[in-house]
Amino acid sequence: MNSPDTDWHARALALRIDGRAVIDGERRDALAGETFACHSPIDGRRLAAVARCREADVDRAVASARAAFDDGRWARKAPAERKKILQRFGEKILAAREELALLETLDMGKPIRYSLAVDVPSTARTITWYAEAIDKVYDEIAPTGRHALALITREPMGVIGAIVPWNYPMIMAAWKLGPALATGNSVVIKPSEKSPLTALRLAELALDAGLPPGVFNAVPGYGHEAGEALALHMDVDAIGFTGSTRVGRKMLEYAGRSNLKRVFNELGGKSAFIVFPDHQDPALAACTVAASLYFNQGESCNAPSRVLVHESIADDFVAAVRAEMPKYAPADPLDAGSVMGALVDEGQMNTVLGFIASAETEGAVCAAGGRQVRAETGGYYVEPTLFDQVSPQMRIAREEIFGPVLSVLRFSTEAEAVALANASPYGLQASVWSHDINRAHRVARALRAGTVHVNQYDEDDITVPFGGYKQSGNGRDKSLHALDKYTELKTTWLRIDD
Ligand code: NAD
Repeated sequence: MNSPDTDWHARALALRIDGRAVIDGERRDALAGETFACHSPIDGRRLAAVARCREADVDRAVASARAAFDDGRWARKAPAERKKILQRFGEKILAAREELALLETLDMGKPIRYSLAVDVPSTARTITWYAEAIDKVYDEIAPTGRHALALITREPMGVIGAIVPWNYPMIMAAWKLGPALATGNSVVIKPSEKSPLTALRLAELALDAGLPPGVFNAVPGYGHEAGEALALHMDVDAIGFTGSTRVGRKMLEYAGRSNLKRVFNELGGKSAFIVFPDHQDPALAACTVAASLYFNQGESCNAPSRVLVHESIADDFVAAVRAEMPKYAPADPLDAGSVMGALVDEGQMNTVLGFIASAETEGAVCAAGGRQVRAETGGYYVEPTLFDQVSPQMRIAREEIFGPVLSVLRFSTEAEAVALANASPYGLQASVWSHDINRAHRVARALRAGTVHVNQYDEDDITVPFGGYKQSGNGRDKSLHALDKYTELKTTWLRIDD
């Protein structure tokens, strides 16, 4: 239930935030006693002192996860029992909905209405959906000869290191936790140093739900400290990573330098949104692209940041997107009506402003937005921005911006549109807008992307896989396919005598 009347400012002031790690079932300071300050991008206010975990803390968390795995306190529990505990975890998340939503908004700047309506329910649903899967996925018996029986069973891998980004802190954590815990693993999560708070609360809520100590540990800290220590750890069996392609590359290096642990990378994107002139409702396409790109301040891996429009309708399309933009004016994320919040920190804001400046220098036409706003609040806000006349060589057409900047490129033929869409090192998502059914299918097939939307962009569900081709990653989160990432297949041969 939404709470339009809640005074989120007052709630924020009253909030007590614990920034300590969660290791072996307890809140703990970093061993060296160090902390880092966590500030809100909304107005720069200091939120908490967060434990600055380093190698020694990660060692402690991994040892606790390993002990919990080895003694079978989770992995060998009856499936029905594990299911009950994870379902309770989902219920606890929903019961803490307002607190978690407020933490998420304060920590990374997204509007409270979305933290309440999207992030918290989606996190809970992910956990309960995987809880339900626990006793619905069966092992196999292979067809073999008269004297043999081969059992093919899934076994948990052991200790999973989860390293997650700041843009959907809770949802990204749940995409790792759900399948990893459901299959019986222990987890050590390293949240982003830019938004560590909700992962710490999730670890506590899991304990409240009855998850045994040591099964879910959370070590906040910097990437090059806690993150690197986790990814290099010899006793971690797999890394579930979501973040930039640059750091995803490092994950593979760390595995190579340590124990060849499995690495599942979910990385960046530069998704193409292709509008053909035979689509009967280009205004709907314009409205959809604005809603999808400006959602979460453009800080989404699957943001449709490259809009490819047929030249015959491009002027009208740009005008239609521009007409949508006033809806997305940045506003106080703690106001229930706000739909566009703050960028996660000053560094991210400057990166986005740098991309805008590069587009202007390279000759793109700024059709709307382009400026920092609300600077007087002490927060980091950038107007929704629209560039027209973008060419494929420009930086804004090639690189992931991770901010509210939309680029329009024009094409003349279907083949050119497909070539432009595929001319990217990324391959996360794409969208095709056409009412010619043959064209829609032809183009969808030709696109090198993990997800292709036809005549829409916003459908999403835990039941379907999420992940990318090419440098957008090598794994799939969500759906039953994610269970494969955190399990080993074991074949057991049995002899049967006559
Ligand atoms: P990032 O790569 O900078 O950081 C991600 C995580 O890795 C953080 O926890 C960070 O502390 C850690 N890290 C950084 N350097 C490290 C190192 N040297 N060793 C170990 N860990 C390290 O990414 P970000 O800025 O937090 O997030 C934005 C990126 O995430 C974007 O590229 C976005 O597209 C991507 N993303 C992808 C998906 C997906 O499902 N494909 C979903 C959300 C975000």
